Amino acid sequence: MSNLIPILPAVAAFLHRDQQLLIGGKWVSARSGETFPTLNPATGKALTQVAKGDRIDVDLAVQSARAAFPTWAALMPAQRERLLYRFAELMEIHKEELAQIETLDNGKPFNVAFNVEVNVAIGQMRYYAGWPTKLTGETYAVSSPGFHVYTRREPLGVCGAITPWNYSLVMAVQKIGPALAAGNTLVLKPAEQTPLTAIRLAELALEAGIPEGVFNVVTGFGETAGAALTHHPDVDKVAFTGSTEVGKAIVQASTGNLKHVSLELGGKSPLIIMDDADISAASEAALWAIFSNSGQNCVAGSRLFVQSDIYDEVQSVLAEKARGLKVGPGLDRTSHLGPLISQQQLERVIGYVEAGVKGGYQLVSGGQRLEGDLSDGFFMQPTIFSNVTDEAMIATDEIFGPVLSILRFETEEEVLLRANNSRYGLAAGVWTNNLSRAHRMAAQLRAGVVWINTYDWFDPAVPFGGIGESGFGRELGHQVMDMYTELKSVWVKL
Ligand code: ADP
Ligand code: MG
Repeated sequence: MSNLIPILPAVAAFLHRDQQLLIGGKWVSARSGETFPTLNPATGKALTQVAKGDRIDVDLAVQSARAAFPTWAALMPAQRERLLYRFAELMEIHKEELAQIETLDNGKPFNVAFNVEVNVAIGQMRYYAGWPTKLTGETYAVSSPGFHVYTRREPLGVCGAITPWNYSLVMAVQKIGPALAAGNTLVLKPAEQTPLTAIRLAELALEAGIPEGVFNVVTGFGETAGAALTHHPDVDKVAFTGSTEVGKAIVQASTGNLKHVSLELGGKSPLIIMDDADISAASEAALWAIFSNSGQNCVAGSRLFVQSDIYDEVQSVLAEKARGLKVGPGLDRTSHLGPLISQQQLERVIGYVEAGVKGGYQLVSGGQRLEGDLSDGFFMQPTIFSNVTDEAMIATDEIFGPVLSILRFETEEEVLLRANNSRYGLAAGVWTNNLSRAHRMAAQLRAGVVWINTYDWFDPAVPFGGIGESGFGRELGHQVMDMYTELKSVWVKL
């Protein structure tokens, strides 16, 4: 039996179509008529051509979202719920197709696309589908006689969503779900490297009966289409997941009309293994904390702090495990890791590896691009540096690739200081069998999420987001509904 997963006829047909923009419920070309190719990172070849939206297309999409807003916001909550559940149901029905498209466009192994990305996206859509009937305000006991005072939760209006390429589907659904549930309309600008699942998602939204103009998609580049959305005077909110650098530009762009902004940005997350931990479980977790999605993960556990007594053992177990990982095309059932997203990303990662070698840090596994029959794709070996020091570039910068830095520490106080010494604050992990220490460290770590004796777990019900230069605002959980609604206080003199 071949290890290669055959492409579904529906996916082949999808790739044959011209990929257009969805504006006001109609599929249209970019006004300029321009297109751009999206590549399969496993082969370096174009999968299909995609409409290259720009300012004018964004403007049309925002207009259609504005026009659709009053009706969508005024729908009975149960009607919005029904439509969003239907949307989730269609995602479920087309699950295999969505996963194949993601594997082709992004490179990740099919089983990861299917079991992690698409399943998580569906779970999130279902979770948000249930929210329209659960939004509430409050009443207040004011200290003046004869008043009835209450709050109403109201949608913001038109939202812009700008998403990255690493988990294209989940990142999009994380914004579409709460935005639409709260009664907003939306314009999505997916990453130029992975625009395809957003397009398929929009087709499913139309099929589900979500009214025209409620959900629009403008594919295109960041500096043009993305920037136009963030500067647009009629956009009320921008939700962004991506680099810290672009996040800062978005905050600046927001000042024009003081639009709401929520940002989920970079990270350089510490994973700490104390000497009282279950070493075998901790090592396995540390391996996947960095290498899942080939390290292209905002919460990647890229700084591994290991306590002195167990350092050598953990390091050698990890190096051996890393050498055992199979890197290959995402459609090959035996691949553990797929390619990196692009030639540019591969070169960036290799640049960091070279800096690590030059800095004299000990390369204990990997370090090379994969050659031979994989040389047309952007494949990189899982790479581990040992005895890295805190100021090393490979220990401070977000690499967004399969490169782990292992650092040695002696005490709990010391490791907390060092782990917190980062401009980022997205995630952190601690492995220990000491209950008090676990909670003590969780409280001390400067991060939006701390995982104890596990890593990289998410649930639609649990809020997620960063502190410091990892961004602000929260996605998921009931908290995200605050990010897509405005609170109005109503005073009634009785
Ligand atoms: P990466 O470097 O990992 O691609 P980016 O932050 O550049 O991360 O990209 C994330 C998303 O932000 C993509 O959809 C991209 O097109 C978009 N983007 C990039 N630059 C800008 C910008 N100046 N304004 C708005 N969006 C942008
Ligand atoms: Mg692509």
